[in-house]
Formats: sequence, C-alpha cells, structure tokens
Amino acid sequence: MNTLKHKLKQIKEGKLSALENVMNFSKKIATKETQDLNIFLNLNEKAIEQAKEIDKRIKEKKSIGKLAGLCFAVKSNISVKSLTTTAGSLVLEDYVSPYNATVINKLLAEDALILGMVNMDEFACGASGETSAFGPTKNPKNPTLIPGGSSSGSAASVAASLCDFALGSDTGGSIRNPASHCGVVGLKPTYGAVSRYGLLDMAMSFDCIGPLTNTTEDSKLIFDIIKGSDNFDLTTKETPKEKEKKKGIIGLVNVKDFCNKEIAELIENKTNEIAKKNKWKIKKINLPLDIAIETYYIIVYTEFYSATRKFDGRRFGKKIEDFAGPEVIRRIIGGSEITKAEHEGRFYKEALKARNYLKEKFSELFESVDAIILPTVPKTPHKIGEKITLEEMYAYDVFTTPASIAGLPAISVPAGKIDNKDVGLQIIAKDFDEDLLFKLAKDFE
Ligand code: GLN
Repeated sequence: MNTLKHKLKQIKEGKLSALENVMNFSKKIATKETQDLNIFLNLNEKAIEQAKEIDKRIKEKKSIGKLAGLCFAVKSNISVKSLTTTAGSLVLEDYVSPYNATVINKLLAEDALILGMVNMDEFACGASGETSAFGPTKNPKNPTLIPGGSSSGSAASVAASLCDFALGSDTGGSIRNPASHCGVVGLKPTYGAVSRYGLLDMAMSFDCIGPLTNTTEDSKLIFDIIKGSDNFDLTTKETPKEKEKKKGIIGLVNVKDFCNKEIAELIENKTNEIAKKNKWKIKKINLPLDIAIETYYIIVYTEFYSATRKFDGRRFGKKIEDFAGPEVIRRIIGGSEITKAEHEGRFYKEALKARNYLKEKFSELFESVDAIILPTVPKTPHKIGEKITLEEMYAYDVFTTPASIAGLPAISVPAGKIDNKDVGLQIIAKDFDEDLLFKLAKDFE
C-alpha cells in the first residue's frame, strides 16, 4: 500500500497537484455510492482555494509544510473555525465553531487541507456509529454492517479512500473500535500526549484525539505533528526523549471468557507468527477485564453529565435534554443519579478505586513485558439496525476501555478477516511509548 510519504513526494515533485488531490477526493465524495454511506456531514468549501494557494507556493519554490496538499476528514466534535461542528447531534445542528482546535491549527500549519466534517455517534456516545442524529454511518467494506463508533465517519472515510487521513476521538475505544471494523489503523495516544483543546468533551479524564490512517507509518507521521504540550490544555506533556531498554517480551492477554472464539484464535495465531519472525518472547497474562466496563461507565456517566451542563440552550445550540437521542439522555439521567448527594459519592469513589487498581495492574505487568496484545473488539460488527441489548453494545468496549481508564497509548491494526469481516489487533504500551506501538504494529500490516 502506498504511504502518505509517497504521495507527499509526488506533490512536492509536481507529479500530483494539491488541487488534483482535493478534486479526486471531492468527486468520489459526491458520488451516489459514497453519499449512501452517510460519512460526510458538511464539506469545507474553501479547500479548492487553499489547494491552489499551496500549488502556487510549490511552483514558486517557496517553503511548504510537512503535509502540503494532503487532505483530511475531521470528526464532527473537533472544532474547525467556520465549519458546523454538530458532534452528530441536533443540539448543535447550527453550531458554527468560532475557533480551531489545537490539532487543527497544527495540521493547517503544515499545509494539510480539510475536506469536511464526518459523521459520528451523538456526542461520541456509542460503539456502532448508529446513534448519530443524522443517521447511521455505513461500513464501506459492507454497507449492511455497522462501521463501529463513535468515530464512525473517520474510520469509514479512510476505508473508503475519501481522504488521506482522518482525525477521531477516543474516550473508551472510539478510534480503535471503528478502525477494527473498517480494516484501518487507529491510534489512541497517551492521555495528554495530544491537546484536547477544541474537542467537545465527552469525559475529560479519558478523551484523546488521534489519527485514523491506512498504514502505521501514516499514523506516526500524523501523530508526530499533532502531539506536544499546549498552553490551552494543561493536561498535555511533551513525549520524554529517554527510552528505557526493551525486554523483547510481549504480553498476550487471556481473553477466553470475553471474546468470540474465532477472534481470540486469530489474534493469538497472528501474535505467535509475528513474534517468531521478530524473535520476541510471548508471555500469557491476565488483565482484570471483568471490571473494565463498570469502572469506565460509572466515571464516564459522571463526567458526561457534568460536560453536558453547558448545553442549556443559552449559549451553545439548543437545550440538550430537549433534542438529544436516547443514548445521550440515558447517560445524563445516569450521571445525575450517580452524583446525587444521598449516595455520598459511593459509586464514583468505588469506580475511582477500581481505576487506580487497573493502573497498578498495568504497572505491574509492564515490569515484565514491553507491550500488551489483545483483540480490539470481542466480536465482528452487527447489521445496521439489528436489535442488540445495551449490555451487548457496552460489551464492545471490554478490550478498549482498560487502556483508556489507565490513560495508556493503544493502537488497532488490521489482523485479518473472519467471515469476510475485518478484525483488529490491539497493542497497548507504557505512557508515551507510541513509538514502540508503531514499531510493533508495522509488523502486523
Ligand atoms: N463506546 C464507548 C462509549 O460509548 C466509547 C465511546 C468513545 O470512545 N467516545 O462510551
């Protein structure tokens, strides 16, 4: 597969103009077939003018950015100045962002071009891409199936070759899950490695922005540009330069009780095959997966309830309780219940304890392994509209929430197919060790 570096070279050498790149994608986005996938919510009308400007600079041999002429799609909860940022909700149907998120400024500074805003689960609440107020996104590989969520449009736009890369957000799996179902690469960076400034928060202590790409190399290219500390987000930090010596051991998580058998086997076989080729040792490990979902949802409901209080119809869009869909309302009601004074913070405090416990477990594990491998999602995607229970929907998150709870970096890479449906393999590393993820993930491509 051609990487973005290859395309950048073509653009620099004048073999492909930035304008041609934009036009190729725009034409494809406009076809009936693509429109049916329901990926783009609104387009950037200025992309053509901006591309011409870049081409002019290339012709005049002026300096250009590291991503000159590459086109990207933006999840609709990441603020882009002058574009409608709906977060997949009628609450923000007419909300035009007055400013750019830090990640957007960084990408624009390198001369990347925004194609438009893409569909997502409403306020990032979902794992299937079906809760958007603007209708479900379809999986480009098989439009009867869900593409995964909540960054449904971001993964689908990459899988359908409608952009060079996309930005998504991941609170409990929303980049990795759709990457897995659509057969692309999705990175959830270390919490704080990438600025959240300009991201419509879902659950602030988990939220991360990251890239969805065709290859691991592309993922690194984009991550290296969007990462770094930011005065507008005080949780951000620079990636430390010092790296400790690696042990050459991968931890393979026992997922037997949580996963479709074929998926578990595929991930195990793939890991064994690659480990042998690269001379790594494999150690079988256990993660407390049984507490992941409860821990995650109690904290997320609480933080989401607090995050949504600003949508009271006075400043930002419409009143959320009057316009949001059932999943968002469930979380608002759930969050308001958990935080009632009469409970004296009982549920929340227990969940915070469990969060610390999980963090400690990861620290212990990382004393004997460099990275941890497990499937990204426990089952293959269901059919759009298929009735599944709330428990089944939340169970999609069992393998992605642990890294989110602990703030660790994790990547999903395509590992193969089952019944012609894409299956992703997830690698988790220590804080700020994204480079190890890229190195390992490359072998699985
Ligand atoms: N599926 C999870 C949820 O619904 C994750 C969402 C996300 O990462 N934004 O909360």
